[in-house]
Amino acid sequence: MEINNLIDLHCHLDLYPDHREAVANCERDKIRTIAVTTTPRAWPQNRDFTKHTHYVRPALGLHPQLIKSDATKELMLWESYFPEARYIGEVGIDASPDSSQYLTEQKRVFIRMLQRCAKAGDKILSVHSVRSAGIVLDLIEAYLPYDRGKVILHWFTGNITELKRAVSLGCYFSINVAMLQSKRGIEILNTTPFERIVTETDGPFIHLRNKIATPADNIQLLAKITQQDERVVAGKVFSNLKTMLEG
Ligand code: MN
Repeated sequence: MEINNLIDLHCHLDLYPDHREAVANCERDKIRTIAVTTTPRAWPQNRDFTKHTHYVRPALGLHPQLIKSDATKELMLWESYFPEARYIGEVGIDASPDSSQYLTEQKRVFIRMLQRCAKAGDKILSVHSVRSAGIVLDLIEAYLPYDRGKVILHWFTGNITELKRAVSLGCYFSINVAMLQSKRGIEILNTTPFERIVTETDGPFIHLRNKIATPADNIQLLAKITQQDERVVAGKVFSNLKTMLEG
């Protein structure tokens, strides 16, 4: 069955074997996509490949796992491109063992980004919060007022208290198929008001049945878990995106 109005709000199109082709495929399949990047050095190409696209929007990122020491130079580059970008990501905090020693620098960078977004207004952020949901929510609450930008929590793995707090802060949740394979992910889905649910593939990193997971896979799993018709689920998820962009 063909599903219309598919969305993919966190996808690393620039990390597919052929970036240009990955963009073209989203256009062909009419998948509304946020093409995140992990470093501001990837912005010019991401911006240029999506200059005339109808469905793909480029995002400006600096991945927290890439912050290894003083990130001033990268942050300055990120800031120099900032006025060109409506979509921001992948940004955030990563407190897993490999990254937590740079937590102070990660926080400094993320605070600065949130401040820039708050001042500019109307930005949409895709935010990474591995082992750091509490910190991320503290910073969003402190630096990005609800009416100054929209936050999509990418692959959220916080606990239920943190989840409820994120809902009250106005956050959206981009759900992927890896999350929907775990009990925790399904609990997150079932606890989140459905009008805050959107979908992502985190491509090319998540696989399902030995293939890179697609936005249609997401809808099929969501439909199965929530016992709804696939087209109904796709319609709801799409209208959540519309509400987010218009609200
Ligand atoms: Mn990612």
